[in-house]
Amino acid sequence: MGVCMESIYSMTSSRLDDYFISIGEKKYRTKQLFDWIYVKRIKSFDMITNMKKEVIELLKKDFYFDNIEIVNKQSDELVYKYLLKLSDGNTIEAVLMEHDYGKSLCISSEVGCNMACSFCESGKIKKIRDVKSGEMVLQILKIESDLDIRISHVVIMGIGEPFDNYQNICDFIEIVNSNMGINLGSRHITVSTCGIVPKIYEFSEFPYQVNLAISLHAPNNELRSKLMPINKVYNIEKLMESIKFYLEKTNRRVTFEYIMLSGVNDTQELALELSRLLKGINCYVNLIPYNETNTLEYKRSSKERIMTFYDILKKNNISCTIRREFGGKISAACGQLKTIKENLA
Ligand code: SAH
Repeated sequence: MGVCMESIYSMTSSRLDDYFISIGEKKYRTKQLFDWIYVKRIKSFDMITNMKKEVIELLKKDFYFDNIEIVNKQSDELVYKYLLKLSDGNTIEAVLMEHDYGKSLCISSEVGCNMACSFCESGKIKKIRDVKSGEMVLQILKIESDLDIRISHVVIMGIGEPFDNYQNICDFIEIVNSNMGINLGSRHITVSTCGIVPKIYEFSEFPYQVNLAISLHAPNNELRSKLMPINKVYNIEKLMESIKFYLEKTNRRVTFEYIMLSGVNDTQELALELSRLLKGINCYVNLIPYNETNTLEYKRSSKERIMTFYDILKKNNISCTIRREFGGKISAACGQLKTIKENLA
């Protein structure tokens, strides 16, 4: 593999347009190529039958078909958890969930994570590197072909902080949204962030109507800083300001994720404080029953406490849902995914 080569799966259609122009071809080649790659799903440029030999040779010189390998797969009713090996040997995880509205894939955006949220297993190994846009695309292709399905929804909520890998995330969205290829509706894509404020401003200008979810988990700085170190850099005031800007720019609704940690962030006072914080903001709160891990000491709030918390939010006119649980038995749930350091080959 030459140093200048790039994974074909990392190429957005606009970059391919430029590429074809640069080699003296027309832009319609991009549509042809996307069709081969994402509709016909070829894995070699030699399969292309509607381009000249010289063009195919150039493609072979400048790009390669990257691959990821399925190292392990566990399933539990409607959930499949995959351990995937990237071409340099690093591993990540992806989780496929079958909902009544379709099949949703939770993908990883980084190998490891630097955010170090105290309740999350994924941050126990520091970031090793970004997951490239093409490797995010491959998570979809690989699992679709393994299960012989079409994925209808993607959530970027696996290992990693997507806004710590911003350009790859944007490219990924552009690639999978293209109607020449995978054609995943932008409203079926959700990006979840722990609150990297400058990127929330930047994302306000992003021209795709994807969903934004914010991991909040506490309504005040004292508690949030204990749970999420990022709050010491971008506190709740700064975070809320950026979200208001985002809402004004995009006219969309944001989701706040709030994990229910027993005795930590699940009291009635905090439910009231959260209601005041979110008053008048176009949002809804997703209460997430905490998934306990082997290594972290937090416990899940009881059903009653979650219901009481929920009722208080509702009474204060905050839209709210309680997340349905998925994959707990196979540690495929939020915050239980981790990068494995050992070489598994
Ligand atoms: N870094 C991004 C995306 C990955 S985490 C973010 O912070 O949003 C996806 C969601 O799972 C976040 O809301 C995160 O806080 C939550 N989560 C982490 N650990 C969890 C656990 N053990 N149980 C339930 N949810 C958890």
